[in-house]
Amino acid sequence: MIYFDNAATTRPTENVISAVTGGLREFGNPSSLHGLGLAAEQKREHAREVIAASLGAAPQEIFFTSCATESSNTAIFGVSKTVGKRKKRIVTTTVEHPSVAVCADTLAAQGFEVIRVAPRADGKFYSEDIISAVDGNTCLVTCMLVNNETGTILPVEEVFPKLKKLYPEVVLHCDCVQGYMKLPIRVKKLGADLISLSAHKIHGPKGIGALYIRKGLHIPSFIVGGGQESGFRSGTESVPLIAGFGAAVEGLMGSISRRWEKVSGLRDRLFELCGQTEGIYINSSRECSPYIASIAVKGLKSEVLLHFLEERGIYVSSGSACSKGKKSSVIAQFGIPDELSDSVLRISFSDENTLSEIDELIIAIKIAQSSLAKIRK
Ligand code: PLP
Repeated sequence: MIYFDNAATTRPTENVISAVTGGLREFGNPSSLHGLGLAAEQKREHAREVIAASLGAAPQEIFFTSCATESSNTAIFGVSKTVGKRKKRIVTTTVEHPSVAVCADTLAAQGFEVIRVAPRADGKFYSEDIISAVDGNTCLVTCMLVNNETGTILPVEEVFPKLKKLYPEVVLHCDCVQGYMKLPIRVKKLGADLISLSAHKIHGPKGIGALYIRKGLHIPSFIVGGGQESGFRSGTESVPLIAGFGAAVEGLMGSISRRWEKVSGLRDRLFELCGQTEGIYINSSRECSPYIASIAVKGLKSEVLLHFLEERGIYVSSGSACSKGKKSSVIAQFGIPDELSDSVLRISFSDENTLSEIDELIIAIKIAQSSLAKIRK
């Protein structure tokens, strides 16, 4: 199997699998006062410390959730209930993941003024476009770090610190899902008050995410009950998944630049071979995260090509997994011509991929070009 769909989800590593199974075997409830409970609590707190360290945050600023979608919903709706009571503008972008975009739609329907900043004709985001959309009536700016369809890196690190100075009351949220453990993220440098993270994009288990909440910022709890997670998110914590999340981060710490370099080599090879092959267009650029590359094979529908490749053991995605074959509205934002939008493939890497796998992908696409073209004639 050649797996090029790492932006959808990643293969859990062996250390993650043993952390999850270890958490299942030692089944204590971290709220129990006996030894089994204490052991579970220690596992949970170890993972929290590891994740906090990976961001340069304090452990008390990390809250476990079920996924990044829950983190972003909690963050965005939470701000709408605090600062949003007085200030009614929300600034976001046109290329957010649905877990953020649909929250913005919901709040727009409730009367918030939602400004969605688009990339310019060159497909790039400019800091000044985001900054100038913010005003004194803004409660929240929510902007992703890395786009999940093209790998575009948004200028959050430039925009957020400037906004903090200009509008100290505005709450700044960043969906870091596709950048976490790939780019070095330090909360102070990023300037975010709230950060959404997901474990399954970094070789951890599904069903576990985290929300970073800057110390001093109050976000109302989304799930109430027994008061777990310092009263922020009730419900017995999933210690196996939390331990798996921590193990995933531990496994990747210290290798961000080595992996970035390796994956850049894979992406460069892909671009080189695409450039040499007639009919393949590259939608991403070398300024994007190397982990995600968007290409289009003219004349071949994404879904048809995806299944053709799957028959040869090569797994890719059409647009993004969340669009489930639906035409992506995000892809058009990046200036990809309409006639290619049905033919977009997302190739997303992990450092487990190899150069020869890319050669195999291109060979398979060439076979598809000739054999599927014949069928159409
Ligand atoms: N944000 C981005 C950029 C994503 O790519 C995804 C998943 O594809 C999510 C959020 C949602 O993550 P989760 O599956 O943990 O809810």
